[in-house]
Amino acid sequence: MLDLDSFYQKVVKNNNRKKIFRVIQEKKRVTKLDISRILNLSITTVSSNIKDMVQIGLISERGFEDSTGGRKAQVIEYLPDSRFSLGMELKETHARIVLTNLDSAILKEKYFDAIDTNILIDECRRITESFLEDFNQRDRIMGLGISLPGTVNMKTSVLENAPNMHVSNVSFKKLEEDLNMSVYIGNEANCSAYGEYEYNDTFKSPLFYISVTEGIGSAIIIDRKLYNGKNHRAGEIGHISIDCNGDKLCSCGNTGCWELFASERALEKSFSDATGSSVSNIDEIFKRISEPVVKKLIMSYAKYLAVGIRNLLMIFDPSFIVIGGNISKYEKELLPAIKKHVFENNEFYTEKDIKIEFARLKENSGIIGASLFPINNML
Ligand SMILES: [Zn+2]
Repeated sequence: MLDLDSFYQKVVKNNNRKKIFRVIQEKKRVTKLDISRILNLSITTVSSNIKDMVQIGLISERGFEDSTGGRKAQVIEYLPDSRFSLGMELKETHARIVLTNLDSAILKEKYFDAIDTNILIDECRRITESFLEDFNQRDRIMGLGISLPGTVNMKTSVLENAPNMHVSNVSFKKLEEDLNMSVYIGNEANCSAYGEYEYNDTFKSPLFYISVTEGIGSAIIIDRKLYNGKNHRAGEIGHISIDCNGDKLCSCGNTGCWELFASERALEKSFSDATGSSVSNIDEIFKRISEPVVKKLIMSYAKYLAVGIRNLLMIFDPSFIVIGGNISKYEKELLPAIKKHVFENNEFYTEKDIKIEFARLKENSGIIGASLFPINNML
């Protein structure tokens, strides 16, 4: 589990309780003795924590373990629907909100378009209230996690800068008061990396998550912690130049930034340059991959992705590179070409040294990651 304590300290933590709950969640049905052995905790500590958790309905004591001889031990049962969480994803033009249970299953979701970013907090309140209108178990919701496309200070709950939304310095403290529930915010790439890392046991740190959207962002996980940097700007890799003498000028002031070649927007632009027709999303491009001209530009796009990834390997030497965003739906089409360009003629790395994968939660990485913030902070 990723350590978020350095970001969020809203409640006094009971680490034993958290560990005990994790074991129950993983095993589904387990006895107190098993828990005490697994965690090396005294039966008294395990029992008192379990008593508290049963009392608030988080778990239940149900049935007895089958055994041959001796006193049968009571079984502690995990209840995935005993608590819920809300995840919200805010983008330049739209928002999506989901209700999840303790297993991160999406139970309900709603899409909102035409978001007025000038009144961001009011919009978040409107979305949440409208989403929960007919939901009668609000007391079981642990909080709301919001994934945001910009620089986020998680400690102070401030969206410091989101150029695509044309907003800066928006505090989400008021939303917490308005909704009367805990609100956690995170940068889109950090939320996605968190979702992927928590959801998939095989992912190990150091992990570099690349978020390919309209631009390119990233999240860095080192020693099971999100690394944000001194100014919360670590991982703005979309603005690393891969062509400083070229003619592509970036809005950031630099020339030849990686995202001008390897973002969704870049792929859409190269498609319209090559075919003369424009598309509103990358799905329309991949649908036409059987056409030679489209296939060629998708392969050229994969090469640009690989160029940036190869640079990242040299800086970071991670265990995993995880590629997320809408393009993660096109693993079959892109991954072989990306790997080829990363590892071909590479004196430093072979495929054995590092795993390059596509996000497994696909387009839900960010929203699931955001919904996990309240859950992982509740105990
Ligand atoms: Zn740039």
